[in-house]
Amino acid sequence: MVQSSTEFFKNLPPKTCCDCGAVIDEMAESYLNQCDHCLRDVE
Ligand SMILES: [Zn+2]
Repeated sequence: MVQSSTEFFKNLPPKTCCDCGAVIDEMAESYLNQCDHCLRDVE
């Protein structure tokens, strides 16, 4: 049985900030590893 890519991503755990561990729900910025707060803290 082949899962669709949509199902695959739905089953992924929530992305978390590498600095504070907060869950990142900005899907458009999925390439980032930091939450909005930490991103603003670091230039
Ligand atoms: Zn953070």
